[in-house]
Amino acid sequence: MQAKESESPSAKPNIKKSEFDLNKTKMNYLQYYPVDIVNGEGTRCTLFVSGCTHGCKGCYNQKSWSFSAGVPFGSEMEEQILKDLKDTRIKRQGLTLSGGDPLHPRNVEALLPLVQRVKRECPDKDIWVWTGYKLEELNEYQRQMLPYIDVLIDGKFIQEQADPSLVWRGSANQIIHRFKI
Ligand code: SF4
Repeated sequence: MQAKESESPSAKPNIKKSEFDLNKTKMNYLQYYPVDIVNGEGTRCTLFVSGCTHGCKGCYNQKSWSFSAGVPFGSEMEEQILKDLKDTRIKRQGLTLSGGDPLHPRNVEALLPLVQRVKRECPDKDIWVWTGYKLEELNEYQRQMLPYIDVLIDGKFIQEQADPSLVWRGSANQIIHRFKI
């Protein structure tokens, strides 16, 4: 694990408890694309969350390793995602969660309510998730996300197995799990 940022309580003195209460989350996100055609099948909404502890050599997005990178994910962003998914002018196939690592336990806390809401309010939309964990490595807490995920691309990026011809994967060790589609 090569996360660059300490996760000790002293690393987050600037975040007030009231802000946690307001947003019901400690997660930050780096980028949100309301219309995206490259991170999963079809036209999608894509959220790149902050925070990853896998430390893959050759990581394409090292700035995403820090949990304090980007901006706080809150109810405003959640509403925007739901609004975009329901937009009938540009039909989205679903939501993509990438990062960073959406299945880091710290991010699951914020993303579980989001994916539950997406499936409740937009049952026709699929959810794709990229994670550096292997499916079998996920603990019980992280596994709470699985019932809401349609496609999971798992595993660390291994530079020695990198292959640009792969679809949806950076390296050959990664597996595309199609749970529902
Ligand atoms: S899991 Fe993804 S974001 Fe995290 S270090 Fe590996 S390649 Fe980078």
